[in-house]
Amino acid sequence: MMNALTRDQAWHRLVAARPNLSFHAMDGLCLDDVPLASIAAAHGTPTWVYSAATIEGRLAALRAAFAGEGLAPAIRYAVKANDHLAILGLVRAGGAGADVTSAGEFARAEAAGIAPGAMVFSGVGKREDELRRALAAGIGQLNVESAEELEMISGIAAAMGVAAPVALRVNPDVAAGGHDKISTGRKGDKFGIGFDDAGALYRRAAALPGIEAVGFSTHIGSQIFAPAAFEAAYRRVLGLIGALRGEGLAVRRLDLGGGFGIPYDDGTAFPFAAQAAMVRRVLGGHDLELIVEPGRWLVGPAGVLLARVTLVKRAGAERFVVLDAGMNDLIRPALYGARHGIVPVGAADAAGAPAPAEVVGPVCESSDRFGTHDLPELAPGALVALLDAGAYGATMSSTYNGRPFAAQVMIADGAPQLIRRRQTLDELWRDEIVPPRR
Ligand SMILES: *Cc1c(COP(=O)(O)O)cnc(C)c1O
Repeated sequence: MMNALTRDQAWHRLVAARPNLSFHAMDGLCLDDVPLASIAAAHGTPTWVYSAATIEGRLAALRAAFAGEGLAPAIRYAVKANDHLAILGLVRAGGAGADVTSAGEFARAEAAGIAPGAMVFSGVGKREDELRRALAAGIGQLNVESAEELEMISGIAAAMGVAAPVALRVNPDVAAGGHDKISTGRKGDKFGIGFDDAGALYRRAAALPGIEAVGFSTHIGSQIFAPAAFEAAYRRVLGLIGALRGEGLAVRRLDLGGGFGIPYDDGTAFPFAAQAAMVRRVLGGHDLELIVEPGRWLVGPAGVLLARVTLVKRAGAERFVVLDAGMNDLIRPALYGARHGIVPVGAADAAGAPAPAEVVGPVCESSDRFGTHDLPELAPGALVALLDAGAYGATMSSTYNGRPFAAQVMIADGAPQLIRRRQTLDELWRDEIVPPRR
């Protein structure tokens, strides 16, 4: 009895901890008060559902946390987290720019009305044509990841007769990040310039034609919760900046990167007030223009992946709940061992006593599993929501196993709107060319 009660509270707790979710006795699970069952009825499954109000609210909260410390960093949203034009439109309307990693993301952000001057171009392998395009449009900042790239940009920009605004991405050699595959700031990670080489490279940047050395950037990983991890990185870079300024070099900007964590299961929220206070304490009074590049934190909690139970398979004592959403839709569990909370959607379904179930997708890979969750009995056709799927969800999906891209819906001003229709089957091969054979 006690056990059942504790278990019953498990998914209730997930809902209670998320202000955009609610559970109604009649309508079941709602996002922004819209019953998710009604969205499944209108648009089918699997479907991504996003709350515009959540993104707007989080953007405002992030700004307010820094404003509370007298800081107004430029916000450059990491487009790779969720690149839908409607979401980029919300970001732009909220006064933020973009952190892009390719010509594709650059063009998307531009299409959403974000000015190139409000964009930062990051990434370890920017191509020449991508750099030319960004420079021609007046990109706000290029985050340079290597000496080789710096020379390449110098050549391109000088030939174009422009000065490329360059920040060197320093690898401060601190271990951070919720998982080995999303930690980026250690020695041996492929990202950034080694801390010991960064000073010399900045001197070189300051002297190169076609380069305007504006400062440094650092991004130590993702899904980080401790301001202390960021503080260690910022202090190292600040030391570097002090030394270079001491030599008479101008360093005016520090890009603090992203990586702010969100609780996927039970867990506490990222302490943004403490983070902002730390940024003021460590970096305030140093005459630095600051940039932050949040991705996951802004959009992750804004989205759910709505899926339907295809069948329930019993194997001995095991209960496998097979969904119509798989790793082709949401790859994070397979890729990083990530866990997303799973909540029943239907009011009647949710009433049953929870018991452990292994939730899996339909893809022919053993790694296509969403973990063990305490769920009530779910019959084929029942709906579930995979929580916190707004970031690194749809952008990472594929059509593996011949599964079309899922539909996407955004709830704005209380009304759900289709923002991407489900891909049709013939669109799966529409762009393929079959050469004629004799
Ligand atoms: C991915 C990335 C971000 C965003 O990371 P989140 O963990 O989503 O906040 C920011 N900056 C750079 C350079 C990145 O590669």
